[in-house]
Amino acid sequence: MKYVLVVVFTILTLSCNSAQNANTKQTNRVDYAATITAADLKTHLYTFAGDAFEGRMTGTDGQKMAAEYLRNFYMDQGIASPIDENNYYQVIPASYLGRRITNDSENVLAYIQGSEKPEEVIVLSAHYDHVGKREDGTIYNGADDDGSGTVAMLEIAEAFQKAVKDGNGPKRSILFLHVTGEEIGLYGSKYYTENPVFPLENTLCNLNTDMIGRIDPDKADNPNYIYLIGSDKLSEELHQLSEEVNKTYINLELDYKFNDDNDPNRFYYRSDHYNFAKNNIPVIFYFNGVHEDYHKPTDTPDKIEYELMAKRAQLIFQTTWEVANREERITADKLK
Ligand SMILES: [Zn+2]
Repeated sequence: MKYVLVVVFTILTLSCNSAQNANTKQTNRVDYAATITAADLKTHLYTFAGDAFEGRMTGTDGQKMAAEYLRNFYMDQGIASPIDENNYYQVIPASYLGRRITNDSENVLAYIQGSEKPEEVIVLSAHYDHVGKREDGTIYNGADDDGSGTVAMLEIAEAFQKAVKDGNGPKRSILFLHVTGEEIGLYGSKYYTENPVFPLENTLCNLNTDMIGRIDPDKADNPNYIYLIGSDKLSEELHQLSEEVNKTYINLELDYKFNDDNDPNRFYYRSDHYNFAKNNIPVIFYFNGVHEDYHKPTDTPDKIEYELMAKRAQLIFQTTWEVANREERITADKLK
């Protein structure tokens, strides 16, 4: 329905402008970012963090259902897999996942090939597993952790795919990496970096999203923020670009409180970006901080701030767009 309306509107616009030179596509990065909406995020998250997926514990039926949801989304969107046609799963053997896990699990991968520099890849990641359910049946829905990052990635992928359809696709490639096994020890991202689909030396950066739908109680009076971790540790270019993109397009407060090397929470080491950072790939970790429902059965979709989450997802989209389309490839310039 939405797509039909867009087409009709475009035809009207073109015919109204026909006296002028109206051959170029008017749609720009701001328009694409605007397709990432609170309503769409909410629709995805109520399913993805619903009881049917039983808390998405690595190796369980709930996790497999979640993987299928992701795969079906990419197939519906016409976004390819980088592994094999119609195979979006990077299977991780149970033996890799620690003693408690008896079933294999899978990362879910989709990608958009760059139009000019397809060999240069940006990896967006979010873990889609969570901690499952208790023996009494109580489900840990993990709406914020990390349903929020997962569905944000779906909407970001959809926005890029719209750009591709208009002939405005990214110059560099984008890998959408939904990792499993995070809650039990960052296994999915570790496995990917040990078995990368694209060479790590051509992986420009990893933008990792883990919890972007809530507000840290410390920020209750100023919720227009997101914590950024890691952006300046390996690449000054990435850090500057991220700052500039935010100022130009989004205007969130970028808070670096947890980026401090001496921060006792050590969040830099606690989500999937770290497996990229330890391979000298520049990273940014997007994070809202912890809250009273963190790792509790009460982390449910009704408590998510969808408008704020959409804004944060748009920041990640715009940052990805910039890395993908700028003239120069970003580098780990702090290693030089
Ligand atoms: Zn998490």
